Amino acid sequence: MKILVMGPPGAGKGSQSAKIMEHYDIPSISTGQMFRDAYNNNEKIGIEAMKYIENGNLVSDEITNEIVRLRLNKEDTLDSFILDGYPRTVAQAEALDDMLEERGTKLDAVINILSSHDVLFERMEKRRVCKDCGATYHLKFKPPVKEGVCDVCGGELYQRQDDTFESVKRRLEIYEDKTKPLLDYYEKKGTLYQVNGMQSFDNVYKDIVLVLEDLS
Ligand code: ADP
Ligand code: ADP
Ligand code: ZN
Repeated sequence: MKILVMGPPGAGKGSQSAKIMEHYDIPSISTGQMFRDAYNNNEKIGIEAMKYIENGNLVSDEITNEIVRLRLNKEDTLDSFILDGYPRTVAQAEALDDMLEERGTKLDAVINILSSHDVLFERMEKRRVCKDCGATYHLKFKPPVKEGVCDVCGGELYQRQDDTFESVKRRLEIYEDKTKPLLDYYEKKGTLYQVNGMQSFDNVYKDIVLVLEDLS
């Protein structure tokens, strides 16, 4: 199963990808998380990427395609993977198609999580992320058991550099401009499925599972 989870920032891509990963036991590839991990580990690529990320801009296609190419070269992604937040531009989608074609394969489904801007602002304003394992929380909708501490690994929770009001506004503009055109791209290929993201975590997940079960 090779799937792509799309949607505007804050739609729930990361949360739902984590559920799919756990349930189906397939790796999830989040470019945003890979950049944050690289930054937190003081790696050059992370420091370079954060210059774009903290202002709400997209990281260059060149850097992003390269980080995905390296990840897709690892054996665990040979049969199945979930891509979360990649591609975000038509150029990235074309690069991904090439990478998959080289291996004689293609995407099975593209799941787009829909949400209104009001909901997205509220989601990102109170989002918290674990510095160690990347698990995501929400102060209102998914609070950790102990304030500031990750339920999964005990790591410290922090607010992302790019979850400020200004940066969220910018990311939504960029989404409309650069990423939304991808929906057309995948619609034409007949691989696009829409899911309503303005429901509880569990109900969004149920709708995704309906799509996935239908594939097999
Ligand atoms: P994305 O990866 O698309 O940016 P996340 O999965 O990080 O989105 O979710 C954004 C924030 O909204 C997080 O704080 C998450 O806990 C919360 N969230 C995600 N899905 C839901 C939902 N269905 N209901 C309520 N809160 C949600
Ligand atoms: P969100 O969906 O909430 O924006 P992500 O963790 O997916 O969160 O991405 C965070 C940031 O990382 C993005 O705003 C962007 O700067 C960068 N990024 C992630 N994926 C890509 C990508 N495919 N292309 C370019 N930049 C990316
Ligand atoms: Zn953790």
